[in-house]
Amino acid sequence: MLRPTRQIRLRALTEIALWLLPGALIAVLGDAAWGLAAMLAGALYQLFRHVAAIDSLVVWARSPLGTPVPVASGVWDLIFSEINRRSRLMKDQRERLSMALDRFVEAGRAMPDGVIYMGPGNVIDWANPRAEEHFGIVAARDADAALTNLVRDPDFVTYLEAGDFTEPLIMTPLRQPGLTLMVQLVPYAESRCMLLSRDISHLERLETMRRDFVANVSHELRTPLTVVLGFIETLADDDEGLSARDRLHYLALAREQAERMHRLILDLLVLSALETGAPLPAEEQVDVPALLDRVLREGIALSAGRHRLTLEIEGPHWMRGSTKELHSAFANLVSNAIRYSEAGGAIRLAWRSVGGDVAFSVRDQGEGIDARHLPRLTERFYRVDRGRSRESGGTGLGLAIVKHVLGRHQGRLEIESALGTGSTFRAILPARRVIRPASDEAA
Ligand code: ADP
Repeated sequence: MLRPTRQIRLRALTEIALWLLPGALIAVLGDAAWGLAAMLAGALYQLFRHVAAIDSLVVWARSPLGTPVPVASGVWDLIFSEINRRSRLMKDQRERLSMALDRFVEAGRAMPDGVIYMGPGNVIDWANPRAEEHFGIVAARDADAALTNLVRDPDFVTYLEAGDFTEPLIMTPLRQPGLTLMVQLVPYAESRCMLLSRDISHLERLETMRRDFVANVSHELRTPLTVVLGFIETLADDDEGLSARDRLHYLALAREQAERMHRLILDLLVLSALETGAPLPAEEQVDVPALLDRVLREGIALSAGRHRLTLEIEGPHWMRGSTKELHSAFANLVSNAIRYSEAGGAIRLAWRSVGGDVAFSVRDQGEGIDARHLPRLTERFYRVDRGRSRESGGTGLGLAIVKHVLGRHQGRLEIESALGTGSTFRAILPARRVIRPASDEAA
């Protein structure tokens, strides 16, 4: 600070001295009147220069921000370059601030949650695109409007007006049916606030699924349990003396129901193990022909001679995956084909390459499935005919297990079916799971 001031003073004095010196010399060495006139002319010129410089400074100060500082000579050059330096510093600072602001705005826009900044009276200052989606507003159009004039849901208006924002509000906006939002107001500064909104529709759906699942499992277990209890009571209160044959009959029926509960619990355990989302327990080398041979033999045993089962293997020998899980999925498809086909029907199992991927398919000549059921078949406990499924020992979880196993192997299930003609279930696995023999790779 000190140096430039002294510098300016020195420069100003030097300039005055330089412009007065010729006149002073003339006055001392020659004619005093001419000398004084020359000194006066020098002083006037100095005055004119200073006024001109001040004038250009005022013009510059009134010009738009960023206009370059005017050029001047002498002492004004020092002053202007000082102003110039300051204005550059301010410009840098402004740019830095504006960049920081841009970054904040960008971060706000990229937020996965909705954010609305509001001024007094809940007037919208700014909203990010997610908040626009959540509340059906357009920030550019609705800025300066009160949010409560645009979002009139009674719960929401009451929440904003109540002034107690310790707990969030769960709401389903009238303008966006099907959406469940968790809304939280955060007051800051004086009478300003930030409204945060989060889409929790998927959590709500999960909660509904969980409730449905518990209800389904309870229902599935209650029926056989009631039957078993009934038989036990009949046997326990046997006053009239049941015949040994009747007793055996009741016991056989009770056992059938107990087995049903047992199957259901085993399937639930398998499903829950698959659903924990843990990675595949073993990325082992699966010997596909050996696995399919086992599935075929189990199918033949289950069919007990009522169907003609065949197996065709044209696909690759080795795969990467879990033998146990793939066995469970493939065996489920075969068991379904047997359980939903009349005696005498042919059931064809095949392992083939399909357009780059590989597929295990099970084709039956059974009752077939109406197209409207197909999209829901892999849902837990979804059955086309509940009675038929129970009769054949079904739990309603088989295809849910198949879908999970295939998902864990990055595969998918395709179903083709026509009522009365039969169905084809195709478990498709990605080509990258195939282990090619070393000779193939070399070629
Ligand atoms: P379930 O234990 O009842 O067989 P799944 O999940 O294995 O349960 O199958 C769901 C439903 O899909 C079955 O109840 C049945 O209605 C239908 N389904 C499955 N496979 C077949 C098939 N091969 N033929 C006809 N219907 C089938």
